[in-house]
Amino acid sequence: MTDTTDSTAQTDNGESMIEIKITDKCTGCEKCIPSCPYGAIEVIDKKAIIKDNCTLCGACVGSCPFKAIELTKKEVKMAGLDKYKGVWVFAEQRNGRIQSVVYELLGKGRKLADQLKVELSAVLLGEKINKEAQELISHGADKVYLVDHEKLKDFRDDSYADVLVDLVSEYKPEIILAGATSIGRSLIPKVATRLETGLTADCTGLDIDKEKNILLQTRPAFGGNIMATIICPNHRPQMATVRHKVMKEAPFDENRKGGEIIRIEVDPKRIPLRTEVIKMVERMEETVLLEEADIIVSGGRGLGAPENFKIIEELAKTLGGAVGASRATVDAGWIPYAHQVGQTGKTVCPKIYIACGISGQIQHLAGMQSSDIIVVINKDPEAPIFNVATYGIVGDLFEVMPALIKKFKEVLGR
Ligand SMILES: Cc1cc2nc3c(=O)[nH]c(=O)nc-3n(C[C@H](O)[C@H](O)[C@H](O)COP(=O)(O)OP(=O)(O)OC[C@H]3O[C@@H](n4cnc5c(N)ncnc54)[C@H](O)[C@@H]3O)c2cc1C
Repeated sequence: MTDTTDSTAQTDNGESMIEIKITDKCTGCEKCIPSCPYGAIEVIDKKAIIKDNCTLCGACVGSCPFKAIELTKKEVKMAGLDKYKGVWVFAEQRNGRIQSVVYELLGKGRKLADQLKVELSAVLLGEKINKEAQELISHGADKVYLVDHEKLKDFRDDSYADVLVDLVSEYKPEIILAGATSIGRSLIPKVATRLETGLTADCTGLDIDKEKNILLQTRPAFGGNIMATIICPNHRPQMATVRHKVMKEAPFDENRKGGEIIRIEVDPKRIPLRTEVIKMVERMEETVLLEEADIIVSGGRGLGAPENFKIIEELAKTLGGAVGASRATVDAGWIPYAHQVGQTGKTVCPKIYIACGISGQIQHLAGMQSSDIIVVINKDPEAPIFNVATYGIVGDLFEVMPALIKKFKEVLGR
């Protein structure tokens, strides 16, 4: 938000107030004009003025020989920061089933909560979901805030946002984590905006700054060319959505003791329903399976032609796995984008990842290197993918793959 007068511009981005001002020292010499990349300075009546399109970048400050341009930055801190305590995980459910990303968030949330010496809680909205609340405790939640109401059976961003905002305002968690799923991406920005706090979307790393006790939220930026670590020091809660399959799931302990389920009654009037769910359409099997699959067989440019993906499909089918692909094959139009693994595709963490004819560039590795077992088939022994391989086969995939398929079919009786 930029508000300009004839000689100042300022912005309040929630974290800091930045102001740029041209003082009386200005002589109208015009030296500042070429320094502005946006053409936002004009000299009128021998005095420089800042125009509406100033972005407060500060490039002009050093250009003035009379030091007439002043840039000031003041931190804006919300009141009562210290009242916010605890780590919350939004427990996304679909058709009453907790989504696996939630268990990954509980795994990471546990570590963050232990570092901060606070409780880890899950917040669960839906209908007839008592059993699921208990499951969250078995996966490490100290508390589950459970809102069980027929109007919350299916996800709707406005009603879920209303309920979540009310809960946060009452219980004041310092951190809220949610999956970067279609539901998380639609709900969490709404909640953050309503709470007037910051949100980092699509995180791939989370940690605690040990000195300041704040959340370090890391995500790829500029098309994945750099990793940016983002903080929200002056507002609460600190909110992040997290990519699926980047973090390890919290272990399940059926006999875990000590968790507490807090049932919250909501006034049905606080759950507006402006839309009606007519039918739930399941996602197509193949595209879903990639993130959920325990086994993935991926093909790269080494396949040579689109029709050769049938070898990848055959091995995947034999093993009950899903088909992945490198970006080179997707860009070539050999296979749809939904199959792409990597920095600009899906992040996967299967038990077994089989990479065939993939060289292993860093952007591909970013999406699969945390797989438990990585099997590589490549004819070039120097291919970088061998650096992350658990088992490597140096050979022509057109010889190796049919042999593997034959053997697996024999062993598995398929
Ligand atoms: C910003 C950015 C984001 C990107 N995001 C992604 C991403 O999300 N995912 C991704 O995959 N890439 C991504 N890339 C592209 C990445 O850098 C590589 O170009 C791409 O992964 C290469 O795909 P490939 O390994 O299939 O092809 P190549 O690099 O061409 O490798 C083909 C491999 O096949 C082997 N081979 C050839 N013939 C045979 C054979 N008969 N038998 C066995 N092996 C054989 C070769 O030895 C070679 O190692 C991104 C790039 C940029 C700049």
